Amino acid sequence: MKLISENSTSTKVLERVILPIEKIGKEIMFDCRMCGQCILHSTGLTCPMRCPKNLRNGPCGGVRPNGNCEVYPDKPCVWVQAIERSARLPIWRDNIYRLQPPVDWQLQDTSSWVNLFTGRDSVHPPGWRGALDADREAR
Ligand code: SF4
Repeated sequence: MKLISENSTSTKVLERVILPIEKIGKEIMFDCRMCGQCILHSTGLTCPMRCPKNLRNGPCGGVRPNGNCEVYPDKPCVWVQAIERSARLPIWRDNIYRLQPPVDWQLQDTSSWVNLFTGRDSVHPPGWRGALDADREAR
């Protein structure tokens, strides 16, 4: 989806206005890390960037038998929370099974809302396009 131009002055002004609102709201609600490419609707509204390995496609092999994190044994695995929460959502329940592209770190600390409207969050490494297209066609 590309509703506004990425590099226009108005987009830069919009980003300056929206960024602090998004940051404060999503930090309070989701412990957001401002990755700039939000996939909350695919993770049961669980921020995947709280995973210490920043995984975007499910858990690593180190989830503990009690469902806690390999790196932080006293905390639940983000991806265990994500699958449980996804099952409880009235919408977006199956989005968790979609293939997610790798994190684009150039978007760190930018507004994911603005990136959605400019289409910047849909720019993926060329090697991933085939995999993402195949995943989309399979659904
Ligand atoms: S996925 Fe990114 S934008 Fe969305 S809540 Fe997590 S860090 Fe914030």
